[in-house]
Amino acid sequence: MNSRRDFLQKLAASALAMPFLSSYDAFGHADFRLPVSQGPVLRVALMGLGGYASRVAEAMQSCKRAKITGLISGTPGKLQEWGAKYQVPEKSRYNYENFDNIKDNPDIDAVYVITPNALHHDQVIRVAKAGKHAICEKPMALNAKEGQEMVDACANAGVKLLVGYRMHFEPKTLEVVRMRQAGELGKIMFFQGQCGFRIGDPNQWRLDKALAGGGSLMDIGIYAVNGARYMVGEEPVWVTAQETKTDTAKFKEGVDETIQFQLGFPSGAVASCLSTYNMNYLDRFFLNGEKGFAELQPSTGYGPIKGRTNKGELTQPHVTHQTLQMDEMAGIILDNNKPVVPVDGEEGLKDLKIMDAIYAACATGQRQELRG
Ligand code: NAD
Repeated sequence: MNSRRDFLQKLAASALAMPFLSSYDAFGHADFRLPVSQGPVLRVALMGLGGYASRVAEAMQSCKRAKITGLISGTPGKLQEWGAKYQVPEKSRYNYENFDNIKDNPDIDAVYVITPNALHHDQVIRVAKAGKHAICEKPMALNAKEGQEMVDACANAGVKLLVGYRMHFEPKTLEVVRMRQAGELGKIMFFQGQCGFRIGDPNQWRLDKALAGGGSLMDIGIYAVNGARYMVGEEPVWVTAQETKTDTAKFKEGVDETIQFQLGFPSGAVASCLSTYNMNYLDRFFLNGEKGFAELQPSTGYGPIKGRTNKGELTQPHVTHQTLQMDEMAGIILDNNKPVVPVDGEEGLKDLKIMDAIYAACATGQRQELRG
């Protein structure tokens, strides 16, 4: 009993230390009586009912503030099956041709775009034109030009644009950010981000330049780009990068297999990162400061995330990332909450500018300077 009470106290203390963490138990169940973020429910239509949308849909069943109220798919059978499973009535099921009609649906506040990367730009702009908030999966677009157009379209339509950066709400990640912000790690000197996996089926859209926009960097290396920014707490001012390819049949022109890149920050801190589709067991962040360090490994998988710092193991509870993300996004959209690490379109755009520069550095062999 005592250990349960200790556990509850620890959990309550860690939840209180994280102002944007809603109430979930250590297993990601949302029925734990801690201070709950309250308010209206965000009614979400899911677009693209594939692998990741399935995970999001399941996780949303435990949400307090977000609910699936619409579905968009090109496959009638999926609309029927998902509609029955998640109690979404026929009038709130759409296909890719008619989803603009969502503008007349009062039961939908936001659309979560979970389709292949190349489709995000046009789909988000259509969502904005329909007057609905957009949540878009990473990478937000194929390049910064597209990203800017999406940001502008949402601003012009008066809707919010958020990017599915689930790690921005993850408790151990936020503890490292808190330590860095509080000066507990001292002046930050170095970040290392290693992100990769060995990709399977050579015929999947992730290896098709037209749909993916690139290769490993667009899909998994983006976590190192994004992580470098929130771990170091600065925006990089220069980029160098080198690409290597061992399999030109699987990784065709424009589809990167492995990229190493380096970022330089205004303070003088540097980052050294690896993005690959050809190595397993690569999911590690390391942050080095003059007074301490933090290591997360795994750092961006679905969890549990594990980590330690110079002060010891990180003990924040595991929460199903997508449950937490969607509840917090409801607070951002409906209550104007400001997350510790932003998830808005500008944030997605910053990553796209860096990724454009990484590709340019690979192509030219030249260091790329980044401006605001
Ligand atoms: P997936 O292939 O499993 O699903 C994609 C869905 O889009 C499918 O249902 C497919 O039918 C549909 N689709 C619509 N138009 C299509 C077209 N023209 N070509 C191909 N498919 C089309 O992919 P996924 O893994 O669900 O990835 C979808 C998006 O989610 C990607 O942008 C990816 O980067 C992102 N994602 C994010 C995370 C995360 O942790 N945040 C994890 C996985 C994927």
